[in-house]
Amino acid sequence: MKNVYVALGSNIEPREEHLSRAIDMLQEHAEIAVVKKSSIYETAPVGYTDQADFLNMVVQLDTSSSAIELLTICQTIERNLGRKREIRFGPRTIDLDILIYNQENSKTERLTVPHPRMHERAFVLIPLAEIEPNICVPNWSKSVTDLISELSPEDMKDVTKWTQNESGNE
Ligand code: ATP
Ligand code: MG
Ligand code: MG
Repeated sequence: MKNVYVALGSNIEPREEHLSRAIDMLQEHAEIAVVKKSSIYETAPVGYTDQADFLNMVVQLDTSSSAIELLTICQTIERNLGRKREIRFGPRTIDLDILIYNQENSKTERLTVPHPRMHERAFVLIPLAEIEPNICVPNWSKSVTDLISELSPEDMKDVTKWTQNESGNE
């Protein structure tokens, strides 16, 4: 079994339902077990900022699938939940990114693990730290906690824990 961390994000309503349906679809897969789930965080968009806030979380999986098979499974789930690729980094019903695949450090045309931008993303590192603060992130050879300590306070302040009750429209 391979130990894997996957980041989920949605900024098209119903955001929370998109996250939970994606997790159900991962869990229903014969070769995947969802081991741990982080809390859900609400985050301001990064990069392309003229879009709605995201809900983000990270899940830990056990899987017998290869990294590329898992990417295909994630992309099928994205398609099934209505993901359309229009604007790069733009609004999406669901995004599933493989953060860490079993301490592999590899780059192919379709897949780079660890995810090449995870080290600079508070919305990925904060939920990941909640479930696995001490795991070594290959490529940077640093723990999640160490990578977080390199983020700026401005990066950190845009990521807050989300609870359904506080949200007016979900
Ligand atoms: P980002 O990767 O910066 O978070 P994004 O998630 O919006 O951006 P997508 O449109 O979801 O980007 O994916 C673009 C391509 O990234 C995919 O077609 C996929 O082949 C590739 N990719 C490379 N490495 C990974 C990875 N670790 N996890 C998911 N997709 C990856
Ligand atoms: Mg992404
Ligand atoms: Mg993606």
